[in-house]
Amino acid sequence: MDASKCKMLADLCDDLTTSGEPQLNQFKLKDLKRICRLSDQYVCQCFELLWSQLKREHAEIRLSTFQVIDELFRRSHKFRELLLDNFQTYLELTLEINLDFPLPLPKKAAETLKNSAYQALRKWHETYSTGYRKLSLAYNYLRTCHQVDFNKADHMSALQRQREQEAKLKLEAQQKKSIDSVIGQINEHEQDIKDVASQLRTCFKLLIPSQDVFDVFDDQLFSSRVTSHATDAGGVDKSVSRSSQSAESSEETVGDEMQQHGLLNRNSNINIELNQHRTITECEDNTDVIHNFDELKVLLKMKYFPMVIGWLAKLQKNGAGQGLMSRLIDLKQMIQRSLKDLDVLVIHRIRDDDMDSDDDDLIEVPEEVDEVTFFKSRLGMTGKRGDISPNLEQPSTSNPLLQSAPVLDFGLDLKYWENPEELTVPEILPNDLSSFVPTKEICFSANSGLLDLYSSRKIEFSGKFVPVKWTCRAPLPTGQLCPRMDRVKCPFHGRIVARDGRGKPANPADAEKLKKIMEKQSQANPEWQDPALLADIKAQTGVNLKVERPPRGRPQRSKLTNINKVNKTARNRLESKVLSRRAIKRVACALNTLENKKLKDKFCHSFSSTFS
Ligand SMILES: [Zn+2]
Repeated sequence: MDASKCKMLADLCDDLTTSGEPQLNQFKLKDLKRICRLSDQYVCQCFELLWSQLKREHAEIRLSTFQVIDELFRRSHKFRELLLDNFQTYLELTLEINLDFPLPLPKKAAETLKNSAYQALRKWHETYSTGYRKLSLAYNYLRTCHQVDFNKADHMSALQRQREQEAKLKLEAQQKKSIDSVIGQINEHEQDIKDVASQLRTCFKLLIPSQDVFDVFDDQLFSSRVTSHATDAGGVDKSVSRSSQSAESSEETVGDEMQQHGLLNRNSNINIELNQHRTITECEDNTDVIHNFDELKVLLKMKYFPMVIGWLAKLQKNGAGQGLMSRLIDLKQMIQRSLKDLDVLVIHRIRDDDMDSDDDDLIEVPEEVDEVTFFKSRLGMTGKRGDISPNLEQPSTSNPLLQSAPVLDFGLDLKYWENPEELTVPEILPNDLSSFVPTKEICFSANSGLLDLYSSRKIEFSGKFVPVKWTCRAPLPTGQLCPRMDRVKCPFHGRIVARDGRGKPANPADAEKLKKIMEKQSQANPEWQDPALLADIKAQTGVNLKVERPPRGRPQRSKLTNINKVNKTARNRLESKVLSRRAIKRVACALNTLENKKLKDKFCHSFSSTFS
């Protein structure tokens, strides 16, 4: 065997199988066949090479390898013998007959490989089964035991079919389970939702007593008519519509009725701008109803509405039946309608300090009150009592956010920033037992120190600033020394070391280190690649001798899919972070600390209880 031919064979095999192309390169394939034709030894060599490629965990490589194998199988008796000796493994690697060894990624190439391998096997059987017993045995084994139908387009063994069926059943069971759980939740909460809606309706009725006059809730509570009729001008509107209805029956009545509204005939139109909002003012009589109304509204809007949306999404995902979906959609629309109609109501609220006029020190905190209201009420109280914080007036802005923003305290120095002379210090009486009435001088001396304390704000700088007293002093191409004054490292010349008058390192160890670094740099950028020199040569001879750096990373040679990238799912990414060695170590450390602390506490308790 010729060594150069062997090398060529290896290169060709590698190129053909790792191209990543769906079709083989015909020129290279021809070269390969030409070498194989020389002798059986080359065929053996080629088989070994292909066999190792076929075992690689990449479907595209396997597909290309299979294509080469198919070509050689049809041409070489020796190759057929070699392959049939390892036929069981070959079938596992290409047809996925053993489900413990599934075909590798990418999926598309794996599918193509499987289908082409089945087709090839059928053709091989048709042509060569008489001469090769193993081939016909394998074919019959697949047809009978694995129930493979070779004439069908989708070649699927019974095992695979069973697996797919199981997966399908599992999915269906999961869907059914999740639908059942949603149904359970719906049954549990549906009545609650309806109750809340009906309570809201009652509150609405209580808050708007004029409903009968304006016919707000005529036939259905939250009908769309609320928006158009719930108005002071509703009466007029209604009369007009009624008059138009009865127009056909009696012209006279219409005329009379229209005249009552100042209209001469039916041709004249009057557009009435309707105020769509119902305004009520909070007072002691209705405050409980309003609070109840607010609570119910929040419950419906923040809890039940998102809940129903979530149910709908779940049911849609799991393919629920029409009846259930329409039931849920009705519920959702009912909530939406209610919320929309409730927006008609505008409540003028009274502030808390208006409500309780008596200024007692006890702050009543309701059981469920949000933080903003709580702090607002707190700050209002402190302002009233003349605390350090200035009682700032609420800014007269229309922005409701600014109005509800809490007022925070700040230091006295900031309060008297512009006129510091106004700053007064509370007098502290010295605890002198000799006399009951203190003299003025003593008071003054005690307060003078306090004044400084109130009017100054010191922020001390921790640490001590040490100025840099040295320069880099590395020799520059100009013959001078580098004048940069850095503390540790010069950005151009690296770590700063002691140097003599000419810029050479004073310490031999430093000199050695610097020399090594220089050598490394010169290797990376050799002298004959000096840009000035290259430019000169190019100008004189016109030849560019610049050696381009090879691109970083491995050169892109083939179109093979990067399986690592295909494998990068969100789960894998998170897994690599959460289950990384470092993370696990950190968690273990934290758990150990906790455990130790617990043990220590336990020990302390038992120790103290023993001696008490
Ligand atoms: Zn320097």
